[in-house]
Amino acid sequence: MSESRACRKCFMIYGDDVKRCPVCKVPTSETHSGFLGVINPEKSEVAKKLEERSNVRVLCGKYALIVR
Ligand SMILES: [Zn+2]
Repeated sequence: MSESRACRKCFMIYGDDVKRCPVCKVPTSETHSGFLGVINPEKSEVAKKLEERSNVRVLCGKYALIVR
């Protein structure tokens, strides 16, 4: 069992008590895998790819690679 939840839209990882993404207002999922830390979104190629995928601005934080 995962002790964190991830947003289905932007893939941001939150604590287990966050049932809805505060950014996208969509329900979070406890079924996610992979882990990606974004420290400097402006300079990160990975952050750009995340943004292309989700169409949501990537912030500093932890992101899942796969969310179901
Ligand atoms: Zn989100």
